[in-house]
Amino acid sequence: MPAQADPGDALIEVVDAFARSPLERIRVDVVAVPFRAPVVTATAAWTVRRSLLVTLRDADGVHGTGEIAPARGEEESAIAVLASLAHRLDGLTPAQVLTAIEEDRSADRSAELALASVIEAGLETALLDLAGRRAGLPVAGMLAGASGRGVARLRVPVSSLVSVADPEAAADAARRAVAEGSRCVKVKVGGEPDVRAFAARVAAVRAAAGDGVDVRLDANGAWSVDEALARLRAVEALRIAYVEQPTSGVADLAAVRAASPVRVAADESVRGTEAARRVLEAGAADVLVVKPVRVGGAVETLRIAAIAAAAGVPVVLSTFYETGVGLAAALHVAAALPVGDETHGIATGDLLASDLLARRPNVARGWVEVPDGLGLGIETSPDLVAEFRESAAGVP
Ligand SMILES: [Mg+2]
Repeated sequence: MPAQADPGDALIEVVDAFARSPLERIRVDVVAVPFRAPVVTATAAWTVRRSLLVTLRDADGVHGTGEIAPARGEEESAIAVLASLAHRLDGLTPAQVLTAIEEDRSADRSAELALASVIEAGLETALLDLAGRRAGLPVAGMLAGASGRGVARLRVPVSSLVSVADPEAAADAARRAVAEGSRCVKVKVGGEPDVRAFAARVAAVRAAAGDGVDVRLDANGAWSVDEALARLRAVEALRIAYVEQPTSGVADLAAVRAASPVRVAADESVRGTEAARRVLEAGAADVLVVKPVRVGGAVETLRIAAIAAAAGVPVVLSTFYETGVGLAAALHVAAALPVGDETHGIATGDLLASDLLARRPNVARGWVEVPDGLGLGIETSPDLVAEFRESAAGVP
C-alpha cells in the first residue's frame, strides 16, 4: 500500500471544504432504551442502554446527529462533561471542532480516557453527519477517501450474537440466527463453572449452527491464562474462528496466543491507537476487535485499521450496544475500512426494544446495506426519541 496521509488530516480537509458555516445550536437528548432481553456476558448483564443523542445545527440550519454511548455507570459523568463542553462549540466551524478533538487526543494519547473517547466519538459522528449533508456525500464515502480505500463498500457482512445462556438456549439462538441467513455467530462465554460446561455449550452452538457457519467466542477477559488454555483445548475440534479477549491484560493475551489452538482476538485491550500498537507489538492478537465508540470514533478506528493492515492483522468492528445512530456510524466506518472483508459485530440493534430511527438500514441474510443518503443517511424518529427520552437540553 502506498504511504497514506493521516485519516484525521484528510477528513478535516474535506469537512473544512464543505462545512464552513459555524455551529449555532447543540441539542442533547438523554435516552434510555431497554434491551428486549438482558445481554449477559462473563462480566456484566446489560438491561438498558442509556445514551446521549447530540444534534448539532449550523448557522444555515443544516444538522448532524451523533450518539455518545458511555459504559454503564458513566452516563451521569458524560452528561456533565457534555454540558460544560457545549457552549465551547458555539460559533466554531465543524472543522475547527474536529481539530480541537484531534488536539485533545494527541494530548491524551497515552492515557486511557474511556469517557473522553465515547464523547469524542459521538461528537465526531454528529460533525461528519452534518458535513456529509453539506457535501452531498454519505459519511462512508468521506471516510473511504480519508482511509485511502477510495470507494466505500455498499454493504458489509455482520455476525449474530448469542449471549450467556444454558446450552439449549444458546443452541436455539444460534439456530434462529442461521435460519435467518447469518453465516457468523458470536457466543458470549466465560461464565461457565468449568471446562466441561464450557465445552458442552460451545459444542451445542456448533451443532446447531452447522458446519458452514463461523463460530466466534467472546470471554470478555474472564479467564486466567491457564483457564483459557484448558478451555480452548477442549473446543479445539469445534473449528472456532477465534476467541475474543480470553484474558484481560496484553501480556496474558500474548501468552494465551502463543499456546492456544484457537486464534486470539483483542477487544477490551484496544482502547485507542497506542493501545492497539502495543497489542500488535506484543504479538498478542491474530485479530483486532475495534469498537469505534471506545477508541474515540471513526478517525481513530481508521488509524488502528491502518497499523493493523501494515501488520497483516484483520480488524473486526463491534459495538457497545448503541442505538441506531451509533450503529449507523459504525456501519459507515466498516464500509470505509482500508482493507479486508471481515464480518463485523455491528448488527446489535435487534437486542434493543427500539433503534430510535424513522427507517433502519436494511439487514438481510447476514448483510447490512450502507444507507446511501447524505451524511449517515438516517433520521431519528421524533416520536421514538420522545418515547425513550429521560431528559433534553438545548444550548443556547
Ligand atoms: Mg468483545
